[in-house]
Amino acid sequence: MKPKAYKSGVKPIWCPGCGHYSVLNAITKALSVLDQQPEDCVLVSGIGCSARLPAYANAYGFHGVHGRALPVATGIKVARPKLNVIAMGGDGDGFSIGGNHFLHACRRNVDIVYIAMDNEVYGMTKGQASPTTPELWDHSKLTPHGPEVRPFQPCSIALASGASFIARGHSGDPNGLAKMIYEAIEHPGFAFVHVLSQCITYCPEQSEWKERVHDEEVVTADPTEAATFLQREDGFSKGVFYRNPRDVWPMPHQPPQDSNLRKGFEL
Ligand code: SF4
Repeated sequence: MKPKAYKSGVKPIWCPGCGHYSVLNAITKALSVLDQQPEDCVLVSGIGCSARLPAYANAYGFHGVHGRALPVATGIKVARPKLNVIAMGGDGDGFSIGGNHFLHACRRNVDIVYIAMDNEVYGMTKGQASPTTPELWDHSKLTPHGPEVRPFQPCSIALASGASFIARGHSGDPNGLAKMIYEAIEHPGFAFVHVLSQCITYCPEQSEWKERVHDEEVVTADPTEAATFLQREDGFSKGVFYRNPRDVWPMPHQPPQDSNLRKGFEL
């Protein structure tokens, strides 16, 4: 099927120039290259501009509660392991309200993909600081001197929490992003794709990201090497940084054969 066949026909209501259009195109291209049947794929989101994405795709979709995309996606995958489950959302949804779920989804290593569209701001509620907003970003009246706290480091935190695939893409490179999402879907385990996806309305300066982003293919299975790289890079590196397949959750296990409980019921 061609990428267009994975679009629902619902017209996106994102602002002109929003980075999320490219992410939608990248997802549909990856599904097309995989020749995925729409009924075998579920897109799950929380709340926010980016969380509207499942409505624009031709696949099963769940547009849920703020910050809860990952527990819903986990439940779907555990109940229906053959489905391709892709969770998604923005930086506020995923790293603030859903921050706890992010840590534990990485730790459990459920075989799902999580695409975080990071524009360093709460766009849908008109531009408040989010967990990834730069310390001195002073565009919001709520934080006139900037949030004055260090921004959250999504890739480093994913690594420390146990994600087995970590990559970063940019909405200005939809082909590269499509390839990355393809690799994330093919990866067995929790695959985190951090996407720098500009909010042109509340952060017009993000149009300069295309000059700052640079390719950095550091595919390593060594967490120490990945951690060292992530602590040194400038936040604009793009590529697959870490890939280290390990047991996925839930682990298959046999029913107890000779437990006291079983013996008790057999009596
Ligand atoms: Fe995109 Fe920002 Fe507009 Fe939301 S407010 S649709 S994130 S440009």
